[in-house]
Amino acid sequence: MESTVGKGSVFWIEMNLTAERQPFADAAEPTAVAPAQGQADAQLLTLLYVEDNPANLMLVEDLIARRPDVRLLSARDGNSGIEIARSSQPDVILMDINLPGISGIKALKILREDRATAHIPVVALSANAMPHDIERGLEAGFFRYLTKPIKINEFMDTLDEALKYSQTNTGHAAKEEQA
Ligand code: MN
Repeated sequence: MESTVGKGSVFWIEMNLTAERQPFADAAEPTAVAPAQGQADAQLLTLLYVEDNPANLMLVEDLIARRPDVRLLSARDGNSGIEIARSSQPDVILMDINLPGISGIKALKILREDRATAHIPVVALSANAMPHDIERGLEAGFFRYLTKPIKINEFMDTLDEALKYSQTNTGHAAKEEQA
């Protein structure tokens, strides 16, 4: 990471690509993308995960590695998450609640109030698993509220739902409905 007091921080991660798509395999098929339907097929979806716990980030990296159509970005706190959401326009955001600095709920509020990010479905992923926490999270406007530890099937199903939702509500109108 790089951090400048009073200005902000830039975080980045590096991760291995899934073995299913080796660069050599792609290079051997230069015409793999058919022009007629290339746009839909070639579309890479982006998931932004805002999480301060490296173990959770690693687990989600492993899960996303099963989805070669999804690339994963990450942020370690709410403010940098908001910054990356604005600049990278992810299709779905996965948000921890207990974060350094602002909470995931506060970050969601800021994302919702910004026209650049209001349409992006945000899934909560939190260790706060009391019914009251879940209720509060859904009231705040999370697309879904998942609790830790991560249940793999539930996680993958929710990711699919959120990605589908984002594909059918691309960047407009959805924000008013969710207000
Ligand atoms: Mn946390």
